[in-house]
Amino acid sequence: MEIGVHGLVWTGSFDESGMDRAIRSTREAGFDLLELPLFDPFGMDVGAAVASLGRSPLAVNASLGLPPHGDITSLDRAVVDEGERILGRCLEVLDALNRGEDRTPMLGGVIYSQLAKYPEPASPQSRSNAQDVLGRIADRAAGYGIGLSLEVVNRYETNQFNTGRDGLAFLREIGRDNVTVHLDTYHMHIEETDMWQPVLDVGPRLGYVHIGESHRGYLGTGTVDFGTLFAALERISYDGPIVFESFSSRVVHSELSRSLAIWRDLWTDGMDLARHASSFIRNSIHTARMAARH
Ligand code: MN
Repeated sequence: MEIGVHGLVWTGSFDESGMDRAIRSTREAGFDLLELPLFDPFGMDVGAAVASLGRSPLAVNASLGLPPHGDITSLDRAVVDEGERILGRCLEVLDALNRGEDRTPMLGGVIYSQLAKYPEPASPQSRSNAQDVLGRIADRAAGYGIGLSLEVVNRYETNQFNTGRDGLAFLREIGRDNVTVHLDTYHMHIEETDMWQPVLDVGPRLGYVHIGESHRGYLGTGTVDFGTLFAALERISYDGPIVFESFSSRVVHSELSRSLAIWRDLWTDGMDLARHASSFIRNSIHTARMAARH
């Protein structure tokens, strides 16, 4: 099981110095995995990033939300094609960042629509446009040994699906084994009935988990029921990546911070936040394991 942290805890720009900082800090805070936001996969200096990673034992996954000009739910063919081009480039970048390591790199996030508040419900055509692209991207991903995870987010960030069960229905229609559901406690807290049922409903198709507080700050200082979430993960014997996600106006990524409405300064010291999260997650896993024996 890989325990990871989202790159935006460390820096808002992933140039050479940003990458160096993110890699060093991720290890220092006690994580095995860095989740890299790939909002500009064509602009990224992949060679420099691979050089920064060097011989570090750090695992790397990537995530993004599609931009308006690459929204694969669009009814405009050119926009859909651009989204497919972006996702294809993400696969190439992630494959390079994995440096041939013997693991399944994961590309996730809102890769099935724009990361935005839509003004209307999803149409059947928008849904099938996205599914067609994702079927082809999944096939290409399989060639690289990459897995895709579709992150279930709240109603203000997509109109395609907002619950684990609906995410599962969406990926079943895509019909590829390397596409999984990605649950995030921040979004579950808004949309789901509780922290137990969605995990059991998705079951073996759960491929990725984000751990975030209700306000996206320090774990345990909000209203998310983490005890139940970790008990549910233990119940289904989940062993995929678990990644801590937190955002503060202290560290800003020009696109993502706006899309996610990060206006508040919930923390200033990313290292203290991350060390706390690393031990919180590991302790929670340990607690759930012990409780399962009773
Ligand atoms: Mn998330």
